[in-house]
Amino acid sequence: MLYERSVSSEALGLVADVRTTPFWLDDARRPEQGPSLKGESTADLVIVGGGFTGLWAALHAIERNPRRDVLLIEGDRIANEATGRNGGFVSASLTHGLANGHGRWPEEMPELVRMGNANLDAIEAFIAAEDIDCDFVRDGEFSVATADYQAQILQEYVELSAKYGESATWLERDEMQARVHSSAYRGGVWSQGSTAVVNPARLAWGLADAARRKGVRIAEGTRLTGMERDGSGMRLTTNGATIHARHVLLATGAGPSPVRTLKHYIAPVYDYVLVTEPLTSAQHADIGWNDFAGIGDAGNQFHYYRRTSDGRILWGGYDAIYHCGNGFGPQHDVDRESFGRLAQHFFATFPQLEGLRFTHGWGGAIDTCSRFAAFWGLAYSGRVSYVAGYTGLGVGTSRFGAEVALDLLDGIDSPATRLSMVRTKPLPFPPEPARSIGIDLMRRALAQADEHEGHRNLWLRSMDRLGLGFDS
Ligand SMILES: Cc1cc2nc3c(=O)[nH]c(=O)nc-3n(C[C@H](O)[C@H](O)[C@H](O)COP(=O)(O)OP(=O)(O)OC[C@H]3O[C@@H](n4cnc5c(N)ncnc54)[C@H](O)[C@@H]3O)c2cc1C
Repeated sequence: MLYERSVSSEALGLVADVRTTPFWLDDARRPEQGPSLKGESTADLVIVGGGFTGLWAALHAIERNPRRDVLLIEGDRIANEATGRNGGFVSASLTHGLANGHGRWPEEMPELVRMGNANLDAIEAFIAAEDIDCDFVRDGEFSVATADYQAQILQEYVELSAKYGESATWLERDEMQARVHSSAYRGGVWSQGSTAVVNPARLAWGLADAARRKGVRIAEGTRLTGMERDGSGMRLTTNGATIHARHVLLATGAGPSPVRTLKHYIAPVYDYVLVTEPLTSAQHADIGWNDFAGIGDAGNQFHYYRRTSDGRILWGGYDAIYHCGNGFGPQHDVDRESFGRLAQHFFATFPQLEGLRFTHGWGGAIDTCSRFAAFWGLAYSGRVSYVAGYTGLGVGTSRFGAEVALDLLDGIDSPATRLSMVRTKPLPFPPEPARSIGIDLMRRALAQADEHEGHRNLWLRSMDRLGLGFDS
């Protein structure tokens, strides 16, 4: 087995000293926390959450109507949760990959692919127009096979891409290894144009600056603690303020939502990431990889990795850990065993880099839902809208997610709001303890499939038929 689950004490030693602040947030350019909101306040629209969804929602809202009084409240600091902790892959896919979209919404897929590409183009254009310095590079993505059965899956992916007019090129083992030197690769697919990489925290800070310049008020350290109807609007309570708002857009990510029914649809799943020290030019030459295309392997428990602008490698994924009762909070942000496993898998892929040190290791919660793609809804008779459930692919999709959540709130009938992807919800997860047991069974079955040439056991096949999945 290329990727062993058990972690050696040597691997644990490699990550003993890593800084546990996310690499992206451990940045001298991280802005100081902005002021919090105190006392009584009013707004036309309150956006709750200062991650990508909330920031894009604020920008869409003010661009649609510059006279709208938009207030964004963030319980902590901008980008402190998933938005500042992710791999920085910006995918055009709105459906957590072509195969997932094709399986669930085959009729809508041409439209979803078109909208996804337009969404990525719009992100790129906005970054350029606002001159946001966030290392956005659109060099595409390699999906690599590290086992023969994965090569088969990837070749099917190339065919599916062609069906939807997406550019994806199959690379034989030697061709793939020539691009990035790992003897683990049995082949790969290069998808051009449909994925970029970015420094996600700098993008979020840039979006916040742009929003402020356009007139959005942003209050950090302002946590929503309660919400109720107030005449034709809503009355919100925070840790220091009361806000009367006409509309509310919830962009609260994987944590507990103020709309309690969301807990049926979301399972926070912890994903872990390491970053190495910068490679020397000799180490860089040893692995090739001369562009900024991100890489993901095609296992069920997959790794994703990419280069940073200062010559490091970010390496994450594989473990996807759910804590009973939708466990969420900083106590789950560090998991030394997951860090050690990631380090071990890194050197299994790139043994020629032996001796390279890891500087950062952290975790973050992914808002997993059973269909792996975002869902939307309205609450409080249309005064409140929400979007969640990006399942590990929200860096790009959050812009689209925010726009649709705003369409719903503004009562706009748009091509997006007519999509059945937007009009339907995922299947709910069962309540505890069945939820923990089910997710654990699923994780074990996926691990077994990886060990047995991708063979999906009866449990997985039954879940596939029901359209109930677990992913990160
Ligand atoms: C380790 C990891 C790696 C990932 N890698 C990728 C990747 O490479 N590519 C990709 O596309 N996606 C990736 N993702 C997913 C991606 O980061 C998320 O989908 C995206 O950032 C979601 O943004 P968001 O704004 O919806 O949520 P968040 O970033 O979680 O923002 C929600 C915000 O709401 C605030 N909040 C919550 N409750 C309240 C409240 N009551 N009052 C006030 N504020 C509140 C939180 O403090 C938080 O700042 C990854 C996620 C993780 C954790």
